[in-house]
Amino acid sequence: MLEVSGLDAYYGDARALSEVSLTVHDGETVAVIGPNGAGKSTLVNAIAGLHPHRSGRIAVGGTDITGVPAHRVCEHGVAVVPEGRRVFATMSVYDNLCLGAYRRTARAGHKQRLDRVFDVFPRLRQRVTQPAGTLSGGEQQMLAIGRALMAGPTLLLLDEPSLGLAPVLTDEVFEALGAVGAQGVSVLLVEQDIDRALDLATRTYLLAEGRVAGEGPSADLRGSD
Ligand code: ADP
Ligand code: ADP
Repeated sequence: MLEVSGLDAYYGDARALSEVSLTVHDGETVAVIGPNGAGKSTLVNAIAGLHPHRSGRIAVGGTDITGVPAHRVCEHGVAVVPEGRRVFATMSVYDNLCLGAYRRTARAGHKQRLDRVFDVFPRLRQRVTQPAGTLSGGEQQMLAIGRALMAGPTLLLLDEPSLGLAPVLTDEVFEALGAVGAQGVSVLLVEQDIDRALDLATRTYLLAEGRVAGEGPSADLRGSD
């Protein structure tokens, strides 16, 4: 589904990613863990076309998307949930969700997709007419994920979904992500909360100082810490 090979990315002269290679197979949930500054956000942004990379190759579903700009990456079935919860505070939950279905192909299956989002996030159904700004931080994260799902992605990229959330809501968000994976969506999750990442993902990469420092089944990594 996703194949990243030999990716290098820089901020000016400072190298943020060095020769990063990783794969996400069809329907697989993969985590990238690592300390602050390891390059996790840069990696997500590079795959999403939001950060330029100097060398390397990115392919989705067998199609080379290296250098494809962010507004075209979605045409290849990639949806991104960026760090922080960027929902439109004065718009309703419903209108925020509809924004995710901006592509013509996504509009076709609109109703079913909305139902699936509500199945995964029952809280959003209860709050459908409320302004998004009145939701709690955790609920806004659910909304941001739901909005990404409305585009009908085959690959979902998530940058630190647990950031700043109360533990109870983090549990709910991760449970929902498990359900998303079970619906057949491939997931690449960048996360600082190691335990939660290892619990969710079947396979995990460890990123340190911009390099892949390890990779393996999550169960093995859990055993070794
Ligand atoms: P993580 O998401 O793992 O915390 P980042 O991808 O945000 O790591 O950062 C990787 C490296 O790039 C760090 O050394 C960080 O300081 C640097 N970096 C991130 N964003 C910028 C930026 N906008 N300008 C300059 N350096 C940056
Ligand atoms: P919850 O109700 O889900 O526990 P809160 O809204 O109380 O979440 O916020 C939890 C933490 O996240 C707080 O420290 C808050 O400052 C921070 N936070 C809230 N909204 C955002 C946001 N949009 N982006 C980043 N951090 C946020």
